[in-house]
Amino acid sequence: MNKQWEYPYPEIDPDICKGCKLCVAACPKNVLVISSKLNSKGFHYSEYVGEGCIGCGNCFYVCPEPSAVTVYLRNYVEGEVS
Ligand code: SF4
Ligand code: SF4
Repeated sequence: MNKQWEYPYPEIDPDICKGCKLCVAACPKNVLVISSKLNSKGFHYSEYVGEGCIGCGNCFYVCPEPSAVTVYLRNYVEGEVS
């Protein structure tokens, strides 16, 4: 990711994503899309459009790939576990 989005926002690791689209379908705000670009495994990966996320976590919960999706909420503090 090249920029710091405003909280809340999802972060998707393009090289772990398999492009199954479950997160795209599960997002109530339609802010996830499948990229036209391919990742290192040859999949079109999911990416955030850059605004509109409400931090519901649906994308995290439906994703079958461990660690592909992280959702950062407004109270996120790096290095702090709450
Ligand atoms: S946390 Fe919710 S609103 Fe934000 S991208 Fe994921 S599914 Fe969409
Ligand atoms: S649910 Fe996970 S593997 Fe599927 S497209 Fe979304 S981030 Fe990629």
